[in-house]
Amino acid sequence: MKRLFGSAAVLVLTAFGLTAALGYFCRQSTPVIAPSSVSPVRPLILDAGHGGEDGGAVSPSGTVESQINLAVVLKLDDVLGLYGAPHTLLRGEDVSLHDPEANTLREKKVSDLKNRVTAITATEGGTLLSIHQNSYPDSRYHGTQVFYAPTEGSQDLARHIQAAIRAALQPENSRECKQIPDTVYLMNHIDCPAVLVECGFLTNPEEEAMLCEESYQKKLAAVLAAAWLTAPETGEDVFQGTAVP
Ligand SMILES: [Zn+2]
Repeated sequence: MKRLFGSAAVLVLTAFGLTAALGYFCRQSTPVIAPSSVSPVRPLILDAGHGGEDGGAVSPSGTVESQINLAVVLKLDDVLGLYGAPHTLLRGEDVSLHDPEANTLREKKVSDLKNRVTAITATEGGTLLSIHQNSYPDSRYHGTQVFYAPTEGSQDLARHIQAAIRAALQPENSRECKQIPDTVYLMNHIDCPAVLVECGFLTNPEEEAMLCEESYQKKLAAVLAAAWLTAPETGEDVFQGTAVP
């Protein structure tokens, strides 16, 4: 219990530190924190879900999922960069990653997903963090939900991220992480550890408003980065200066 509290405290402090660093960094032209020795070695692949013509979910007021996904991923890019944590972005702008031969929207979506799988598979030792936003007909539902791929290491990472969200951002969120449904193509066609984070519900007006705020996007990015930097798979003891086995 004490150890659990200790881990949660480290995570919350890390998340707040990263939030502050990210806020400061975004107002500066040069990095203010040197690359740190606490960074995990394995690259994190950041996937901003959807993009281009495929906007993903759209809220009743017109908020488009793909743009929130991209905003969170770009902030994750900043904060992971501050810490010298290796990472790549599948997309860094509002585009679909389809082949030029794809014509219809369906062809573009299929091609886009296949190209994402190819890029993920080509990243040696990578771990996928896919960012999405949820929607549901009933507007009551809110809160982050983390899903994991049926690959080794994914469930542990998802559990860690779900706990990090609860500890640092949403204390009332009692959701447990879940395995991704087998209908989600990307998460079921890769071999590496992979988690998909539904950051919140665009169909809940209060949560939608928060998801559109830059300050909340920064907090989300900071908590996700803190969770990655403290994840057991990437060296739980790095903050105590212990070598990763
Ligand atoms: Zn989505």
